[in-house]
Amino acid sequence: MITTAFISTQEAIALEERYGAHNYHPIPVVLAKGEGIFLWDVEGKKYFDFLSAYSAVNQGHCHPRIISALIEQAQTLTLTSRAFYNDKLGLCEKYMAEYFGYDKVLMMNSGAEANETALKLARKWGYQKKGIPTNQAVIVAVQRNFHGRTLAIISASTDKTATSNFGPFMPGYHIIPYNDIQALEKALQNPNVCGFWVEPIQGEAGVFVPDEGYLAKSAELCKKYNVLLMMDEVQTGMGRTGKLLASHHENVHPDILILGKALSGGTYPISAVLADDEVMLCIKPGEHGSTFGGNPLACAIAMTALQVIKDEKLPENAEKMGILFRKRMQKLMQCYPEKISAVRGKGLLNAVDIKEKNGKTAWDLCLAMKDKGLLAKPTHGDKIRFAPPLIINENQMNEACDIIAEAVAEY
Ligand code: PLP
Repeated sequence: MITTAFISTQEAIALEERYGAHNYHPIPVVLAKGEGIFLWDVEGKKYFDFLSAYSAVNQGHCHPRIISALIEQAQTLTLTSRAFYNDKLGLCEKYMAEYFGYDKVLMMNSGAEANETALKLARKWGYQKKGIPTNQAVIVAVQRNFHGRTLAIISASTDKTATSNFGPFMPGYHIIPYNDIQALEKALQNPNVCGFWVEPIQGEAGVFVPDEGYLAKSAELCKKYNVLLMMDEVQTGMGRTGKLLASHHENVHPDILILGKALSGGTYPISAVLADDEVMLCIKPGEHGSTFGGNPLACAIAMTALQVIKDEKLPENAEKMGILFRKRMQKLMQCYPEKISAVRGKGLLNAVDIKEKNGKTAWDLCLAMKDKGLLAKPTHGDKIRFAPPLIINENQMNEACDIIAEAVAEY
């Protein structure tokens, strides 16, 4: 029998441990409710959410307009498959194409699927338009990338945890260092290269912001060598870094734009790839797709989630709040140079590097912050990513920074 009765923190964790695959190592908190920038655990304790489900909840938890759109559409029509047309997909495609400035949109579900779509599109374009010999296409990717968990994607990963014992891997990648324009230019000289696949800021790796000019110069080189610039904005998009897209910081318009996460405001898996006709029309009926991709429920949610970003000026707020956050963290680093070694980020995608002290690590600091009412999670051991919903205001940000400062002082 399925029970929905009250479940304690210990019980919920024990159930996951016993019946769920052990493919995550969560912070030990069991969440039961979310609203705006706050989360509540099963015992009713309230927390600042400083992860936003890895930047999927940019608009805040259970945003009333997004939830209304979801409920209304869920009561009308949820899924037709693409065997038929539905009355929302065309509208959503038009809305998104105009919103981001592309000819066409291809909707999928997860961020990984959108990246897979981009890889397939780039290869097709490479054979059909660039004239690359059959099965010789190369995609240039960078060290420390993160684009998801499928086999084609991890085949380009340089992270041992992501790849160990999952081989054999897909060929056709050339991996170069991130933020290295010379290495990029050298790689692009290979006439079989069809795409350069990159995150404008490396989120999962620990929020690495490239040097100013890197994105613009990359775009210029891609044009020079007739290579598609494939920008993965799954984490950095939707206002997270202080602009609608992180590419906009350098006025870059990628040939293939990859979106996910906050495209749904965290309600439902929705992802998309955008490109102009010259690229998108390389894929013909039957060559790619997904049962759920472009369903009417996803379309209704995505249009509302995007409209909320505009109406509530979330990129502008992310920019302002990000400056405040980094100022507070830099001050904290000056007070505790033996505990904090770096503060970096853009907008509300930030990271603080924590030095190990008396056997204590970033993980222990996250546990201490949890006890004080703020949730964040380390990435790659010593880095803590701080990424609250973009609706956070100045008072809330100061209160949250006070909690972080208190936890660091005691660390
Ligand atoms: N691309 C980037 C840049 C990401 O940060 C992520 C997830 O963290 C993904 C792709 C994968 O998205 P999903 O987990 O929805 O498959």
